[in-house]
Amino acid sequence: ESFKRIAEVEDKVQAFLTLDEENARRKAKELDEKLATEKEFGLLFGMPIGIKDNIVTKGLRTTCASKILYNFDPIYDATVMQRLHEADAITIGKLNMDEFAMGSSTENSGFQITRNPWDLERVPGGSSGGSAAAVAAGEVPFALGSDTGGSIRQPAAFCGVVGLKPTYGRVSRFGLVAFASSLDQIGPITRTVEDNAYLLQVIAGLDPMDSTSANVEVPDYISALTGDIKGLKIAVPKEYLGEGVSEEVRQSVLDALKVLEKLGATWEEVSLPHSKYALATYYLLASSEASANLARFDGVRYGYRTENAENLIDMYKKTRSEGFGNEVKRRIMLGTFALSSGYYDAYYKKAQKVRTLIKQDFEKVFEKYDVIIGPTTPTPAFKIGEKTSDPLTMYANDILTIPVNLAGVPGISIPCGFVNGLPVGLQIIGKHFDESTIYRVAHAFE
Ligand code: GLN
Repeated sequence: ESFKRIAEVEDKVQAFLTLDEENARRKAKELDEKLATEKEFGLLFGMPIGIKDNIVTKGLRTTCASKILYNFDPIYDATVMQRLHEADAITIGKLNMDEFAMGSSTENSGFQITRNPWDLERVPGGSSGGSAAAVAAGEVPFALGSDTGGSIRQPAAFCGVVGLKPTYGRVSRFGLVAFASSLDQIGPITRTVEDNAYLLQVIAGLDPMDSTSANVEVPDYISALTGDIKGLKIAVPKEYLGEGVSEEVRQSVLDALKVLEKLGATWEEVSLPHSKYALATYYLLASSEASANLARFDGVRYGYRTENAENLIDMYKKTRSEGFGNEVKRRIMLGTFALSSGYYDAYYKKAQKVRTLIKQDFEKVFEKYDVIIGPTTPTPAFKIGEKTSDPLTMYANDILTIPVNLAGVPGISIPCGFVNGLPVGLQIIGKHFDESTIYRVAHAFE
């Protein structure tokens, strides 16, 4: 079914970088046999899933949408892939993204532009734009994305689907090609909250291969979907409904809050006073970490190597200048500068301190409230090409999602209405490791 739908719409949406039809059919056959002979089946038995192309898949090309990895066939599976296999899911293919997950529109892909299924002139968001678009277009019911500063939630909002960034440490990063290791998390993108809970159930939990994965029990997420939110205390940060947020988006969020009130929840306005520093802090820290993580792409170990080098240093230089796109180069330069001696204290160390203040803002609010609610993005999906010439306006699109990564807490985006035919996302943010409450609130809308 997935391949039939893909054949119908993929030339318009262009969500996939690689399709794996042969293996998918083989796996489906295996599952048919299992159906006939065995009694126990995985939680995602026979479910088609698309994978963001920065998650390594054994024997299946993994490019991070970068020319520097155009021919990279990993020799192992990411932990999330192993868990999907054990759950009997069927991998359909690899999904487009901004190169190395740097961007908010998938326009930074080194290979192709993915379009928003709701309006083909508009971006699907990013960096997990291929994942969100494939789910929205009905090509796959399940997808994995990754979120460093909003890359699951923002495209989910733009494409009208459900996307969760789990708590930092909830899902193993082993086999996720690192962008900013202290912020990156893999998470599920689906049509419904229930499907989302199933997928998280499969991928969550401690992994000895990732020392930052947390030894915290994984609860039964499905049983959290009770529909009961009586007495729930909601905080609405005034910074999330203020300047820069469009009137229609604000109205959609207020309407959603009314629905929750009817179901027995209460809400109050609060403040996250350090939010205004989040964008600057994030771009310093994320770029610093990226500049170190991307040092490994040198033409020796993986992927692309220049053809005309005079010596080793020249080979490194040419490989990297030819292989990386502009946004990736911009971040490497910014990060290298911020980490250089003499500037380290003024930039990197200071940004780390501000990160702590931002985290404390959230902790304070969560002393009194169960969840924080606001919009996912200031506006619905923008037009292709609209923001490519000005990186700063592109960066500003993530203003409401980035603080969540800096604090390490979980957040979901679910659809909450339309503005001029384009979906609007509602963001629900929870306490550390409390994805269950987020799902319970999100499910109340279904
Ligand atoms: N858009 C943000 C960036 O460009 C976030 C990306 C992400 O979450 N991977 O860094």
